[in-house]
Amino acid sequence: MSCTFDLKHYRELLESAGGYTWATFDREPRAGDLFLRHDVDLSLDAALVMARLENELGARATYFLMTESRFYNLGSYDGRDAIAELRELGHAVGLHAVYPNAQLDARFDPVIAWHNPDPEYMSAPIDGAVNVMSPPWFTPGHYRSDSNQHWREGCPHDELAKGSFAWLQLLVHPEIWVYEGTTMRETMERMLEAKRNELVEALIDDRIDMT
Ligand SMILES: [Zn+2]
Ligand SMILES: [Zn+2]
Repeated sequence: MSCTFDLKHYRELLESAGGYTWATFDREPRAGDLFLRHDVDLSLDAALVMARLENELGARATYFLMTESRFYNLGSYDGRDAIAELRELGHAVGLHAVYPNAQLDARFDPVIAWHNPDPEYMSAPIDGAVNVMSPPWFTPGHYRSDSNQHWREGCPHDELAKGSFAWLQLLVHPEIWVYEGTTMRETMERMLEAKRNELVEALIDDRIDMT
């Protein structure tokens, strides 16, 4: 099995976790829990592709969406449709917040993941919401992240299959699996091509003459 950042291996990763319980952040961790977390930094389309695959495999995740993204607009038709589809697929939706704005509204469950947090506030409690990077949800030895196509402590598929973690919070960024490339740059170029095509369609929808 090759640990490449693509949907084939993402499927294998989910299948390897079959012995775990899909947990969301509405309660504290228990033995056998897998908190599958997605910080959606760049692309709602990538999030939806991942969400459909998870639903097909019986997996449940929490999608953290931004209200202040430079890359997508949660208030647009596409943004509203994306939230509705994530909910229909059975996933939880939290806020991927830009510090210090922890403004929750009815679109979100009361759970927050800071975007690119500084160590000073990363694990601090948040009034009225779960901070996913605070204990007990964030505990050394119970956390893995795929940031920038790099698993600091290795791809967890093997340990998941063996049940090595008593429980785990697993952070996966959809864009880096859905858009394939051998480097982060290649992956981002793929995403940009897809976004260009999306924007051309949006222009046509906006009655711009693109003939
Ligand atoms: Zn792997
Ligand atoms: Zn982020």
